[in-house]
Order: sequence, then structure tokens, then C-alpha cells
Amino acid sequence: MLVLTKKMKEDIAKQREQDIFVCDACGSDKITEKMWVETNSYISIDGETYYKADSCLDDDSMFWCESCYEEANPILKEDYKEEE
Ligand SMILES: [Zn+2]
Repeated sequence: MLVLTKKMKEDIAKQREQDIFVCDACGSDKITEKMWVETNSYISIDGETYYKADSCLDDDSMFWCESCYEEANPILKEDYKEEE
């Protein structure tokens, strides 16, 4: 079983902050993506299950904004700030 150290969690949080996508309509970061994953490639960390995405099959990606309840076009949070 993989255990995350405090430093690893901090690094992940920092990385996420730099690389976060938001809805281009409302700026919400509560967006989900429909994608293919490799069914048997997963790890469990702190009760969450993480799957490896199958990048060969992501051509028909669809994003959904949980705030707009509509299909979303995600953009980088940095870019959204600049548009305001
Ligand atoms: Zn939205």
C-alpha cells in the first residue's frame, strides 16, 4: 500500500494549484471529465481510488461543469483570471 508523506501531499497541492482548470463560463473548478481509464491499473490512496487514464482514447473527451449544469470548456485558471 502506498502511503503519502506530508511533503508529497504538499507537492501535489502546489502542482494542482498551478495546473488547475476552471469552467470558461463561470470560473468554477468543479468540472468533471469523461474519459477512458485502464480498468486494472489503479491505486488507492487515503480511501480514494486513482486510475491510469488511457491517453489513446481521449479524443472524445467531454467536460461537465457542476455549477452551470452544462457541458463546459475548461481553461487554465491563470487564463480565466486574465480574461476578467
Ligand atoms: Zn460553469
